[in-house]
Amino acid sequence: MLSPACPSRCVVQTQALRLRRGKRRIGCSLILRAVAFASLAGLLHSSDLDHYEALEIDDAAVEADIKKAYRKLSIKYHPDKNPSEAWRFDAIREAYEVLSDPKKRVLYDTGGMETVKQAEQGKVQAGDNIQIEVPVTLADLYRGAQRKARARRRIVCRRCRQRRDPEKCKGCGACPSTFHMQNTLRNNMIYRNRVEVPSKEDCRMETTELDVAVEQGANDKDRVFFKNQASQMPGQIPGDIIVSLKRSDTGNAKFKRVGDDLRFPLEISLREAMLGFKRRIRHLDDHIVEVSSESVTRHGQVIRIGGEGMPVKDTPSAFGDLDLVVSVNFPAQFTENERKEIAGLQALSRFDEDQARSRRDEL
Ligand SMILES: [Zn+2]
Repeated sequence: MLSPACPSRCVVQTQALRLRRGKRRIGCSLILRAVAFASLAGLLHSSDLDHYEALEIDDAAVEADIKKAYRKLSIKYHPDKNPSEAWRFDAIREAYEVLSDPKKRVLYDTGGMETVKQAEQGKVQAGDNIQIEVPVTLADLYRGAQRKARARRRIVCRRCRQRRDPEKCKGCGACPSTFHMQNTLRNNMIYRNRVEVPSKEDCRMETTELDVAVEQGANDKDRVFFKNQASQMPGQIPGDIIVSLKRSDTGNAKFKRVGDDLRFPLEISLREAMLGFKRRIRHLDDHIVEVSSESVTRHGQVIRIGGEGMPVKDTPSAFGDLDLVVSVNFPAQFTENERKEIAGLQALSRFDEDQARSRRDEL
């Protein structure tokens, strides 16, 4: 009935069953005989089965795995089909209720059902948040991006509590002690002492890699929250990992962001300023913006191109504007011949006369 691999792996027929009894070190065969007996006698209760075992999933199961397992097993063990295993159906339902709720799941992982119940009564303390920064460029904020961030955090090891995994539990050791205040009476005096309570659980440090979604149009210093993903302590609800976006541009520094708009310096020659120009500008996502003029463009003029600014965050179809700030590159100097040539230009002479008329009052 028992597999030869016991006690590292206990198998009853084809199904692995594990009892949650805190940090017990009772021989597997003893527990399994008890389970088998209790099952036959109809004494087994849903809460005796570990939630992950009940749903037949791994510790690393994601939300979709949990849903899938629940759907499959709740049909398989429905009391209409299996009246003798009603306890198992209850266990599956209870397991799903806890593991499908991320907050309950982390409480269960770190302190079992006891902690889940304490949290329901508001008796569970919140742990500290972890703050990290992830560098992003303006192009990332324009296009949207996926970035990896790493956070070093303590985790409470479920495996150590149940079945130590020699490979994964290499770095596991006792979790940090907790402290509480205790009154003691000595010589008719009450003394208040800080008492250290060593942890019964095992913890280890782990580097967690997070996938940070940088949304289109996100801002510098925007924060992305990973709820309850910070360091774990038994009987505590973990804080959040808060990832802040930090602008750190190297390339494409020509584009400047002003709210949802962008500014870009456009340099043109004196000839282009007078006669017109054509330009192709490579945007932050490499698409080309064409701009042209067939008339006079002034130094410092701003050419606004609608819809070519930053994407508006949370409104995917909306964009700000792109302002091209013109600077005219004047020649440093002309030769004597060139000066004569320019002075002889009819168009400039006419312009001078117009100007003179409008400045009649000047001396
Ligand atoms: Zn461990």
